[in-house]
Amino acid sequence: MTRTIAGLAALSLFAPWSLFSQGKWPPNSMDRPKPPVITVGPAPAPVPPPSDAIVLFDGTDLSGWASDVDSGPAKWVVKDGYMEVLPGSGGIHTRRAFGDVQLHVEWSPPTPPKGESQERGNSGVFLMSHYEIQVLDIYDNITYADGEAGAVYGQTPPLVNPARAPGEWQTYDIVFHRPHFDQNGKVTQDARVTVFFNGVLVQDNTDITGWTVHAARAVYRPHPDAMPLALQDHGNPVRYRNIWVRELKAGE
Ligand code: MG
Repeated sequence: MTRTIAGLAALSLFAPWSLFSQGKWPPNSMDRPKPPVITVGPAPAPVPPPSDAIVLFDGTDLSGWASDVDSGPAKWVVKDGYMEVLPGSGGIHTRRAFGDVQLHVEWSPPTPPKGESQERGNSGVFLMSHYEIQVLDIYDNITYADGEAGAVYGQTPPLVNPARAPGEWQTYDIVFHRPHFDQNGKVTQDARVTVFFNGVLVQDNTDITGWTVHAARAVYRPHPDAMPLALQDHGNPVRYRNIWVRELKAGE
């Protein structure tokens, strides 16, 4: 008996394991293995920006940010050296646009914790406005693996869960390389991201498969080479402080 190539293709198309053959779980699957929980030391003092960094938030004002709703002034609360999501006011984005970056962000979920799963301390860091590194209170909180803090949301869970308790400051250090598109808008090079969460590697040069979406497969759509960074209003008063970015020009 000979198998035709078409027959093999049909076999793999309909085989139930084909969905997982490349390690691709369905988005937001509760069955996907959860990252191991590890513990880290207490939060350090805010990490000072190096001399070539662009400071996006130094704890005093939101002049570098605009509202996603109307592009007017960002409406989030600023006090005591941090900004806090004003639930319902919409996300905010930087007035400057960026491509490849090194990004430092410090964030803190509300305490005492409120809500479960995706409703507990949810926000997000959106690279180029479209690629979300999830922000979530994942300390003693169960949710789907690709929705945990440090996940490329809906795509790739963090390697481990090194979250500190709510109310403590958490850090993200992110290296992001933008996607490239050809003249027809077809992606020729996926975006890639490396993330350290509280100093621990959770994304290791991870391929980003498209724009962040919920409960659906991500796909790419073309966009400019530089776009704003954005922070998500998911209805929870998450705090941010000490946000700075270094533009990476090599290879551009
Ligand atoms: Mg989010």
